[in-house]
Amino acid sequence: MSAIRLYDTMRRAKVDFEPADPKRVTMYVCGPTVYGRAHIGNARPAVVFDVLQRLLRHTYGAESVVYARNITDIDDKIMAAAVAEGVDPKVITGRYEAHYLADMGALGVQPPNIAPHATDHIPQMIAMIGGLIDRGAAYAAEEHVLFDVAAPGDYGRLSRRPLDEMIAGARVEIAPYKRNPADFVLWKPSTDDQPGWESPWGRGRPGWHIECSAMIAAHLGHTIDIHGGGLDLIFPHHENELAQSSCAHDGAPLARVWMHNGFLSMGDTKMSKSLGNVVTVDALLEQGWSGEVLRLALLSAHYRQPLAWTEDLLTQSKATLDRWQGFLRRSDVAASEVPERVIAALADDLNTPAVVAAIARLSRLDDVGGMRAAMALMGLIEPITGRVDELAPATPEATAATNIDDLVAARTAARARKDFAESDRIRDDLVEQGIILEDSAGGTTWRRA
Ligand code: AMP
Ligand code: ZN
Repeated sequence: MSAIRLYDTMRRAKVDFEPADPKRVTMYVCGPTVYGRAHIGNARPAVVFDVLQRLLRHTYGAESVVYARNITDIDDKIMAAAVAEGVDPKVITGRYEAHYLADMGALGVQPPNIAPHATDHIPQMIAMIGGLIDRGAAYAAEEHVLFDVAAPGDYGRLSRRPLDEMIAGARVEIAPYKRNPADFVLWKPSTDDQPGWESPWGRGRPGWHIECSAMIAAHLGHTIDIHGGGLDLIFPHHENELAQSSCAHDGAPLARVWMHNGFLSMGDTKMSKSLGNVVTVDALLEQGWSGEVLRLALLSAHYRQPLAWTEDLLTQSKATLDRWQGFLRRSDVAASEVPERVIAALADDLNTPAVVAAIARLSRLDDVGGMRAAMALMGLIEPITGRVDELAPATPEATAATNIDDLVAARTAARARKDFAESDRIRDDLVEQGIILEDSAGGTTWRRA
């Protein structure tokens, strides 16, 4: 079995991937804010991390991976879209979530195990914000709650931005109630006609970053194996998630490996709704490009490299796929084991261009069984569905294991109040379950023996 190596944004290096618990590999990818159709740039992380979850399931067992991708269904852009149409925000989010799942399904993206919605986790967010205030890492001011970026001591670690630079670069007018210009919003007030929830700080709604921190803790635990998203999420979104989560969890790091895909561009600039240079997935499908062609085009470049979206790329991807499918049609040889060369390429930081070359080589060798296996692992041949009620399976053991984090937190709390009898008892308990604790200056992490 090839050891998986992944590029970790935190360490700026390719590292050996070692999950805390090989029976419960946890991955969280920041999902869409649902207020419009997804463009093909938005599809890049969905497809890239879909290939990664397939590789993880192939390596650790299909039921040993817990993959969560959230739906952000409370946001100012959603509210603006609802006002523009004169409908309830739920009409907007329901419609565009359904479109998103259908579009990603057409690209062969399997539904994650868990698709948490922000609006279903408001109590968890309020609890986490309360905990941050108790720990002195957040403060309430003028109906807002703000995170104090001085609290973690190493804010800016992930994006490697010095704090003074972030303060100098803090955008637009700085709200007068901020202690530090880089402090960011955890909770903000809602007017009567805006969606809102009762909280200790008045009726309001959460900021974007706290959503992911609360949903990760609720479903996956304090330290997850892989956290992913596009390059633009490193700062501020992931930097802020990291700061909040580790302050809320006694310094436990949020993720063992941070992964970020590069940008897809069209006409020399990043494809982006605000720039207007977008082509949506459904428009491409309507033009007659198949989901498999779009997927192959997305995977033809390494995920960390920029990808220029051109007609030429689509034409070439279609020609390649037509050729491969021609081979498969001429023979009814069933899929074999996935060839080692293919696994090795994927295990090398998801080197999909090398897999494409390997499949071409298999076709030259007339190895139809190997081609079928490799194309299935890449998600290029299989029944295509995109229904959220078909969430991938995970063992009960895998989904229940969050309580280990609770025990670790209880032990940290016992140590803080110098109740060593209790902290030793919890540690012994965990050892009996095969859990090894690792204490460091940054906090405590655990792994299975
Ligand atoms: P958004 O709905 O804008 O938050 O984006 C959803 C995901 O798509 C995030 O992980 C973004 O980083 C990613 N993304 C947005 N635009 C691009 C692009 N042009 N190329 C690659 N990824 C993108
Ligand atoms: Zn997020």
